[in-house]
Amino acid sequence: MHDVIVIGAGFAGCSAAREVRRAGLKPLVLEARDRIGGRTWTSDWDGQRFERGGNYFHWFQPHLWTEVTAAGVTPIAPPISDSVHWTVDEQIRTGTRAQREAINESAWNKYNAGSWEILPEPHAPLRHPDRIARLDAMTIQQRIDELDLTDDERALLMVECGGVASGHLDDAGALSVMRWSALSGHTLAGTQEAAGGYTIAEGTLAFLQPILDAADCDLQLESPVAAVEQEADRVLVTLRSGEALAARACVVTVPLNTLGAIHFEPSLSEVKRSAIALGQAGIGSKVMLKVRTPGGLVSGMHPNHPFGFVSTMFDLPGDEQILVCFGQDGDEIVDGDLAWAQRELDRAIPGCEVIGMNWHDWKSDEFAQGTWGVHRPGWYTNHHAEMQRPEGRVILSNSDWAQGWAGFVDGAIESGIRGGRLAAGMVH
Ligand SMILES: Cc1cc2nc3c(=O)[nH]c(=O)nc-3n(C[C@H](O)[C@H](O)[C@H](O)COP(=O)(O)OP(=O)(O)OC[C@H]3O[C@@H](n4cnc5c(N)ncnc54)[C@H](O)[C@@H]3O)c2cc1C
Repeated sequence: MHDVIVIGAGFAGCSAAREVRRAGLKPLVLEARDRIGGRTWTSDWDGQRFERGGNYFHWFQPHLWTEVTAAGVTPIAPPISDSVHWTVDEQIRTGTRAQREAINESAWNKYNAGSWEILPEPHAPLRHPDRIARLDAMTIQQRIDELDLTDDERALLMVECGGVASGHLDDAGALSVMRWSALSGHTLAGTQEAAGGYTIAEGTLAFLQPILDAADCDLQLESPVAAVEQEADRVLVTLRSGEALAARACVVTVPLNTLGAIHFEPSLSEVKRSAIALGQAGIGSKVMLKVRTPGGLVSGMHPNHPFGFVSTMFDLPGDEQILVCFGQDGDEIVDGDLAWAQRELDRAIPGCEVIGMNWHDWKSDEFAQGTWGVHRPGWYTNHHAEMQRPEGRVILSNSDWAQGWAGFVDGAIESGIRGGRLAAGMVH
């Protein structure tokens, strides 16, 4: 019998396994894919390292930054464009970054008015349930619609909030935006830097692998789990292959949108089941476009557009660049169709010739079924606390329901540490 089985080898799973090892126990990690990393995926395209999933990291994210320091990897600052675009009613505006951000900030501050009172301790989101209740019941779109905004403010706020939602604004919860802002010091500039600023030169895998190494665990790849059954003094984990493995405790670290594919016996509590049925709203896209442009670094913001927010990711030799685009729905991307990509990019940024396209469809990926965790209305009031509560010898841990940076790698590490400690406590 194993001490602890950890299901999933993303940042939450590897962190949970390391915590189990620190408690003197031996973890077994079961991962469905043929790689570790989950919704982070260090990859390459034409010899250029790039990340298909989580990519931006910041020292506002305490759990993550500890790992960055420990691994000795190199944070690099983002390329910043001085000439920027934004689209209002299909009219492309061009201006300086300072001009665009002044409008953007005005709108952001209206949306997040009162955030110091509503979320004074964003790492403890339930500290004042009465204060978050109103926003928690609303969608982002409902919150935007109740604000007094100019056309430019509204367009920019929709894109900025779309960057949080990675999904449809009439589906994602309004509190998500304020949560990101509060975690980043209650400012737009802080939020932009924390959520979209620094990357790691060596890639995310370079600071995930040391966590897994420290776990000193048995790792089984290509081992999707079908069922988790609790018996009197053990947990039986059954793979889709039919293989059954027993442990004294189990930490399940799969994403919220995939939890329903695992059979739990006895079934999880009613509130957990309704949280799983609700799911999370991040179903968007991250598309990389290789372009030729003579005009320097670029940035564009277009509401209700398959690319939404676009900016230079890598400035390549000659007049080539790789742009990163964040859109609201993976289903809106026409995979590999450069003519389509060209038409769409022309609506957001003038003067770029699209010569390549690369992305991963996280929405259709059966082991993710979405991008980053963005809560739907009612999550905090009805589900959040219950998702943290172990049931018997089973603990659920994932960034999607972390306390602080839910939807980020930092939240995955935080949630994994908590889950690993709880599991070790059950065994000792
Ligand atoms: C496009 C994109 C961009 C992002 N950008 C950022 C960013 O810039 N910064 C940031 O901090 N975060 C970002 N994120 C979010 C971040 O990547 C995730 O929040 C974080 O990686 C989640 O880690 P996790 O371990 O909680 O979950 P996951 O990484 O999803 O790990 C769960 C693991 O469980 C496995 N699994 C699923 N089902 C089963 C099963 N039945 N049996 C066994 N294993 C199973 C999965 O294969 C996976 O490996 C981004 C995500 C995406 C998709």
